[in-house]
Amino acid sequence: MAYKTTNPYTNQVEKEFANATDEELEETLTAAHALYKKWRHEPLTDRKVILHKVADLLRQRRTEYAEIMTRDMGKLIGEAEGEVDLCADICDYYADKAEDFLKPQPLETDTGEAYYLKQATGVLVAVEPWNFPFYQIARVFAPNFMVGNPMILKDASICPASAQAFADVVAEAGAPKGSLTNLFISYDQVGKAIADPRVVGVCLTGSERGGASVAAEAGKALKKSTMELGGNDAFIILSDADWNELKEVAPQARLYNAGQVCTSSKRFIVMADIYDKFLEMMKEAVSQVKMGDPLDRSTTLAPMSSKSAKEKLARQVKEAIDHGAKVYYQKEAIDSDGQFFAPMILTDIKKDNPIFNQEMFGPVISVYKADSEEEAIQIANDSSYGLGNTIFSSNHQHAKEVAAKIETGMSWINSGWASLPELPFGGVKNSGYGRELSQLGFNAFINEHLVYTPRKN
Ligand code: NAP
Repeated sequence: MAYKTTNPYTNQVEKEFANATDEELEETLTAAHALYKKWRHEPLTDRKVILHKVADLLRQRRTEYAEIMTRDMGKLIGEAEGEVDLCADICDYYADKAEDFLKPQPLETDTGEAYYLKQATGVLVAVEPWNFPFYQIARVFAPNFMVGNPMILKDASICPASAQAFADVVAEAGAPKGSLTNLFISYDQVGKAIADPRVVGVCLTGSERGGASVAAEAGKALKKSTMELGGNDAFIILSDADWNELKEVAPQARLYNAGQVCTSSKRFIVMADIYDKFLEMMKEAVSQVKMGDPLDRSTTLAPMSSKSAKEKLARQVKEAIDHGAKVYYQKEAIDSDGQFFAPMILTDIKKDNPIFNQEMFGPVISVYKADSEEEAIQIANDSSYGLGNTIFSSNHQHAKEVAAKIETGMSWINSGWASLPELPFGGVKNSGYGRELSQLGFNAFINEHLVYTPRKN
């Protein structure tokens, strides 16, 4: 069976789930499509109450749900609890905002009256990854539930228990059948669902490989898609950065979720005059992390999500070193069967190193030296990715000017990466297209339906 929970701390297979049949997929499509037709004639009132109820249930059971995620993919229990809280906030945000977001929009014209309605479009397929098992679902489900677009979920095969728990809490809150259906389907069945005339679009978060494949299926069937893909985010540190703030932020910006975040700061680009000091500071921080049981609240660095994820990272590090990168520091490994990757600091990664333009999804801190701000910006932009970036400087106005020069979808100033319900999330270049969260995410699968009455003379 492809869908199973293999606890990456113990390596035990804890749960296995049978694949969904084609009949189950067909039943789901039928129920979801019927629900879309029904929702088109219904006010938002009931859905608002249900989505607030989802938020309440998530908050009440934050530790229970956090443990399910930790067992699926190994994240620290405290980080998992924070993820549940964020999901509850996302649900409340869209429940409260939907009415306003759906108001008809007047259009300026001298020729008569024009406005556009904002309407649901139909059933969506959501393909989601394992690194934030609840949050990734919440950020596409909550807005589309309020819009009136039912959703079929295909989640990562390594976190099936989390996906099912999320779908179950939505049902328990009173969402009608078809609102969010988690299906343990194959890639072929995802393709079939996308091609089905009842499906109008697909949103995917994942790798470039997965994204390209699913976007191609969508293109073939002329279905709208949004793609939230990988990143190789820069963290630019200018000479006037506030050191105390930096010490608090920089290690976590890389090591949170064991470095498995699309927006993890994967490339620290540091001005030459503070480069050595920065390396020492990061070494000190890395030397203090505590690897161990992710359910133990004193652990500060979790295992990686799976054996294959750890092996892939090890291969990338070897390739980097084979091509001239230097290991500035690596924390000693611990004696454990868990999928731990001892965090490390790499330097001297030159442009001809194959790793220069690869996403390393784990606790590897790459540090680059820049002789000028222009060079720092140039290194940051020298990437096929364009998700997010950070700029650290005591001169806020100047940091904003630097941010405007970076070719990414998001910039954070004097802060690590962040995600809030009201802020759009997404990238450019190979990091994908479209936005999730905020009003932009709400609009992703909306029909902007023009209604025009020309003035008669
Ligand atoms: P992945 O291998 O692409 O998988 C993501 C999801 O896509 C999984 O559910 C996977 O199913 C499915 N999938 C992959 N290929 C498919 C295909 N041909 N047809 C149908 N479904 C397919 O990515 P991952 O390794 O799990 O996730 C990590 C990546 O996600 C990283 O690159 C990270 O940067 C990115 N990410 C981006 C964002 C963002 O907002 N931009 C947020 C989080 C993560 P299986 O599990 O069954 O293979």
